[in-house]
Amino acid sequence: MASAVNDSCKRRRLLGDASPEDFISCPLSDLPNGVMTNVANYLDAPSRLFFAAALTNQIAVASDERNTAIVGNEWTTLDFGDIEKDLAVKLIDGDISAVLLCIDAVNRLKRLKLTNCINITGVGLEPLRGSTIIEQIDLSLVGDHQSPNISPKPPISCEFVLPILDSIIEREGCSLRHLQFPSVWSEGGKSIQFEQFRIRYNEMLDNRGVGCAKCNTNLPPGDLSWIGERIVQNFTCYECLKHFCITCTNDDGEGVLGHCHNCKKGYCTDCQKSKGCICCDFEYCVDCRDFTDCSGCDSVFCEECIASGNEHSKCYECEGRFCNDFCAKYEISTHCDSCKKSCCNNCQEDYHQEDWPSCKRCRDCFCDDCNEKKGILYAIQMCDSCYTSYCGDCREFVTFEGDDIMCEEDEENKNCAGCVQLAGLISDEKWRLRNGSSFELSK
Ligand SMILES: [Zn+2]
Ligand SMILES: [Zn+2]
Ligand SMILES: [Zn+2]
Ligand SMILES: [Zn+2]
Ligand SMILES: [Zn+2]
Ligand SMILES: [Zn+2]
Ligand SMILES: [Zn+2]
Ligand SMILES: [Zn+2]
Repeated sequence: MASAVNDSCKRRRLLGDASPEDFISCPLSDLPNGVMTNVANYLDAPSRLFFAAALTNQIAVASDERNTAIVGNEWTTLDFGDIEKDLAVKLIDGDISAVLLCIDAVNRLKRLKLTNCINITGVGLEPLRGSTIIEQIDLSLVGDHQSPNISPKPPISCEFVLPILDSIIEREGCSLRHLQFPSVWSEGGKSIQFEQFRIRYNEMLDNRGVGCAKCNTNLPPGDLSWIGERIVQNFTCYECLKHFCITCTNDDGEGVLGHCHNCKKGYCTDCQKSKGCICCDFEYCVDCRDFTDCSGCDSVFCEECIASGNEHSKCYECEGRFCNDFCAKYEISTHCDSCKKSCCNNCQEDYHQEDWPSCKRCRDCFCDDCNEKKGILYAIQMCDSCYTSYCGDCREFVTFEGDDIMCEEDEENKNCAGCVQLAGLISDEKWRLRNGSSFELSK
């Protein structure tokens, strides 16, 4: 390329480090509008936008006919999640502002989502100043159902964004209904600047006098506020932007508005179902987490609790999960105290002819596998003549020292011959171990 063209390329290029091939802007801009529009027709909507922004050489003119022909009039929603992530992460404030000017955002745009724009400070939102059209601004910088905790910390700053938001909320006829803040603004304590904005925003919505879309109760109820301490907006569905109270339920009796512990967004049940995990008690969108049903009741477990495995009981045979709060008590009565595996009552009945052995004195229960591995000193053994079962430790105690539990044949503190024999075997074994026998028993 000739250097003159190169210079003009640099001047016109909007996209930071994006490769020039992405936007072959310069020579094209001299072509007639009709050709431009035809070219644009081959691009998808977001690409058309950048094409137009690139052509207008950063100083976009909203009324520019060619712009309108290329980007169209339909930009009521702009989600940077619609363009390639590789590109979005490279966008800088100049790019955002060029695009906003290009679509005449201040007069048209209702929803703005800065998905993946992790390199902006927010100063690029300037073209939205004073908009009475904008209804939602999502500054979380992540797409739907993603955790807003971004590392390294994005540079988006209260200092640049809040004055622009203020210019919007102080306008008569302001349409703003929902703000999603970046999670960095809540890390390490909120700034005074944010706190003051929070109060002004809450006041603006209070003064608007909105009610729950279902029951019409005035919002926010009681002494609650729209933006609380956790800097997330309450009483508002992220998707349909309707406002709801916290007590209204849908036809299935579920709370209308859920709030996800992962994406930190609130959704009404029409837009996104959410479920509460019975183990960790957190609520998540169904698109944020997988859930597993309790095999015994309507409760669900989130995938994290399933992975951790310690907050519920699982049957090792059918792999069914049972909530500890309720079902495990009734549905699972067989546990191995050695390997800790459990078997539900149905499987115990279906797959095991006999119950696992349990010691009549200490109440320990071992699965068949564990019991077999334990060896004579520790295994639970049944006496062939009186049919009592004791573990190795208890057997000896019962027979020789104990006066609490006796074998069933006991008369006048004498044990049956079977019990005495078993106890004898155990004490012989112990004697052999004490006296340095090389024969080792594994516990
Ligand atoms: Zn309500
Ligand atoms: Zn909704
Ligand atoms: Zn959970
Ligand atoms: Zn979620
Ligand atoms: Zn249950
Ligand atoms: Zn089972
Ligand atoms: Zn076991
Ligand atoms: Zn025992």
